[in-house]
Amino acid sequence: MKTKAYHEWLQGLEQLTRNQRKAVFIHLNADVSGAALANELERNQGNACPHCQSDRLGRWGYQSGLPRFRCRDCGKCFNALTGTMLARLRHKERWLDYSQALIEGLTVRAAAERCSINKTTSFRWRHRFLDEIADLKADNLAGIVEADETYFPLSFKGSRQMPRPPHRRGHATHQRGTGDNQVPVLVLRDRHGATTDFKLTAATQAEETPIISQVVASDAVLCTDGGASLKGAARQAGIDHRALNQSAGVRVLAGVYHIQNVNAYDSRLKTWMRRFHGVATKYLENYLGWRRGLERWGNQISPQLILQAAMGRSGDFRLLTQT
Ligand SMILES: [Zn+2]
Repeated sequence: MKTKAYHEWLQGLEQLTRNQRKAVFIHLNADVSGAALANELERNQGNACPHCQSDRLGRWGYQSGLPRFRCRDCGKCFNALTGTMLARLRHKERWLDYSQALIEGLTVRAAAERCSINKTTSFRWRHRFLDEIADLKADNLAGIVEADETYFPLSFKGSRQMPRPPHRRGHATHQRGTGDNQVPVLVLRDRHGATTDFKLTAATQAEETPIISQVVASDAVLCTDGGASLKGAARQAGIDHRALNQSAGVRVLAGVYHIQNVNAYDSRLKTWMRRFHGVATKYLENYLGWRRGLERWGNQISPQLILQAAMGRSGDFRLLTQT
């Protein structure tokens, strides 16, 4: 565009309506964000075929703005998104903005506005982005490990029909009374900040024992509030256990055994979740993972890191979780 024409065009901007301005802005921004995203995806391009794991690859042009590769062994084509939860989602140029919205914990509506997408898309993106992130859990808690059961209201929000109520009869010998409309979550955290959580159907010794056996180091000391199910689970898993009878005023034993870290974590989680005004139980694990990621990544978090994690390429996650 010639300089004169450009100045005329620029002056024309003043006559744009509010909505037209916004559209122009989105357009210009999309160019920049689209390029940033393409860079990011290229950087994260794996070097093996997602179909057969072969590393004999050749470039095969472009598809939807991304470099495409062809496997010399199986002959199939793929790009950086093939086989990830983000494959076939549209508007790639807005994904980094959407990742930022996740970092800020925006509601579906606020994230939709931020990225100029509709609410249905915003909701779909949220759960596609969180699917892999929800699986990023610490898997080896050591030293002093604090465990606590916390509860979330059972919710069928967004479901077309009410599913059959969950069966709660039998096998619930050590379940503490919280009623059928609460979903128990077992949260475990060690003193290095390694954290994991599990949505349970019931807070029972039967459900908790395999979890504790699996994620708590055999020479760890498990601290709990002394509830029967966790106490029994620790015994059955052969883990040393300290019970903090808080209602009897016992907050710390031997100066080091307490459950204040896990309690504080639960409280931050609950406070943060309040903005969503109740979450559907079937998505609860995504929200737990979302919060866990925010806590774990802390100020190292970035939209790029969220995007990598959402693509299941969180090689860096281990570095960030191992302490
Ligand atoms: Zn292949």
